[in-house]
Amino acid sequence: MSEPIIYDLSTPGRSGVNLPAPDVPPAPLPNELLRDDLPLPEVGELQVVRHFVRLSQLNYSIDTGLYPLGSCTMKYNPKVNEDAARLPGLAQLHPLADPDSCQGALMLMHELQSWLGEISGFDAVSLTPAAGAQGEFAGILMIRQYHIDRGEPQRDIILVPDSAHGTNPATVTMAGLRVQQLPANAAGEVDLAALREACSGENAKHVAGMMMTMPSTLGLFEPSIVQVIELVQSVGGLMYMDGANMNALMAVVKPGKLGFDCMHYNLHKTFSTPHGGGGPGSGAVGVNDKLRDYLPGPVVRRDDAPVAAPADDKDAPGWRYDWHMPAKSIGRLKAFAGNFGMHLRAYAYIRAYGGEGLRQVTRCAVLNANYLREKLRGEYALPYDQTAAGARRYCGHEFVVRGAFDDAPGVHALDISKRLIDYGFHPPTNYFPLIVPEALLIEPTETETKDDLDELAEAMRAIAKEARDQPQLLHDAPSSAPVRRLDEAKAARQLHLCCPAARPA
Ligand SMILES: *Cc1c(COP(=O)(O)O)cnc(C)c1O
Repeated sequence: MSEPIIYDLSTPGRSGVNLPAPDVPPAPLPNELLRDDLPLPEVGELQVVRHFVRLSQLNYSIDTGLYPLGSCTMKYNPKVNEDAARLPGLAQLHPLADPDSCQGALMLMHELQSWLGEISGFDAVSLTPAAGAQGEFAGILMIRQYHIDRGEPQRDIILVPDSAHGTNPATVTMAGLRVQQLPANAAGEVDLAALREACSGENAKHVAGMMMTMPSTLGLFEPSIVQVIELVQSVGGLMYMDGANMNALMAVVKPGKLGFDCMHYNLHKTFSTPHGGGGPGSGAVGVNDKLRDYLPGPVVRRDDAPVAAPADDKDAPGWRYDWHMPAKSIGRLKAFAGNFGMHLRAYAYIRAYGGEGLRQVTRCAVLNANYLREKLRGEYALPYDQTAAGARRYCGHEFVVRGAFDDAPGVHALDISKRLIDYGFHPPTNYFPLIVPEALLIEPTETETKDDLDELAEAMRAIAKEARDQPQLLHDAPSSAPVRRLDEAKAARQLHLCCPAARPA
C-alpha cells in the first residue's frame, strides 16, 4: 500500500490561500531566480488538512499506546511540561539576549543544573550537550584533557564492558582514544579477573578510564560496582557512567557518591522530554571536582552575593546569574546554551514531582519491569536472571528475553516484534544488547498501568503460542499496519520525500 503524497492530490487551478494584493511596489528580482513554472501542488485547504491529519494518524506514538522500546525509555511526557516550554516569555526568548534581560531563564537553568547535581551526587553540571551521545563525547574529552594536563598523555585506553551501549565504544573512538573491551562473566556482570588483568602491568599506565552503562544494557545493576570503581581509580583511571537510563536509579542511587567521576543524563529519557525520530534531546553532563573546570560551556553561574529585588518586582530572583565558560573548558558543543526547550521541560518535570515523587517514579519503573518479566517467565527464556551465586535476580527498569524458541525453529526476534504490531503495541528493542542472541529488550516504564502491562504480557504469551502453532502469522506480520516489513536501511538512505521529480516511477 502506498500513501499518496500531496502532489498526487493536485488539481490545476485549485488553491488553498488567497494572497492579499501587495501594498508595496513590486521590486525587480534577479533573472536567475525567475521561472515560468513552479511545480507546487494545487490543493484546497481542507484537502491539505485531511492529508496531514491522516498521515499523522499513521504514526504510533507514546500518546497512542504502550511503547516498550528498551533503553529508549518511552515514558509518557506530562503535558504540563509542554505548557511550561510554551510560555511566551521563555519560548520567544532570543538566545543572544543580554543576560540582564533574561535573569528568569538563567535562574531556571541554574536550578536545573543544581537539581541534576543533587540527584546524581555530582558537584557541577553543564546542560549544553545536545544528546546522550554528545554528553558521552564531552565526558571522554574531559577525561582525556585531564590526563594531558597532568602530564600523562599516554593514557589513551578506555575500558568498555561488552554489555555497554553501542554509543560508548563509538564515543571513545570519536574522542581519539582506544577501546579495550571487557567480557561479561556468566551472570552478565563485569568480569573482575579480566578487569584486574586490564589494570595491571604496562597496560595500567595507558588506562585513561572506564565507561560503564548503568544499569547495563541487560537492565542489571552491577553488584561489584564499588570494587570496579576502586580498581580503575587505583591505577589512575577515571570512571565514566553512561546515565542515559537513570530511570532505574533516580533519587535512589547517586552515581557521584558511588565514586564515578563523570556521567551524562538523557533529559529526553529519564526526565520526560519528548524524543524519537531524531527530535531534540539533551545530554547534560555531571562531574566531580576533578573535572569541573573542563565542562563544556557555557554554564550558568550565580553571583556570590544576593542582590536586592526591585520594589516593584516581588518575583525577582534575588540573585544575579550570568554565563560562564569554565577555566579549562573543552569548549562549546552546541549552538548557544543547548536545547533550552528541553531544559524547561525537565525543570517542570522535576519541579512537579519533587524528591519523593522522583523516588516513586524509579520504584514504579523497576516494579513494572519486574512484574512484566515474571508474567513472561515460562513462555520466554530470561537470560541473566540469576546472580553469579545462582540466586534469583531482580532487573532494573528493563529486561531481556530471548525472542526465539527451541520448539519453533525459524521464528526470530524480529518476527515476534512485527507480530506485536498486529496486537497494537510498539515492538521492543530487538537484537540489542548484542551479547544475547535473538534479544528483545523490554522497558515498560513507570507510566503504564497494571492493566496495560497485563495486556502486553497476554499479547506476548499469545505470540509465543502462535510461534509453535501458526508460525506463518509471525512471518507475515505486520498484517494490520499501514506498511508491511520495510527495508529500514534503504528507507533511511534513499529518502523520497519532496517533489514528484524525486519519486521513483
Ligand atoms: C539512548 C542511550 C544513549 C544515547 O543517547 P542519545 O540521546 O540517543 O544520543 C547512550 N547510552 C544509553 C545506555 C542509552 O540508552
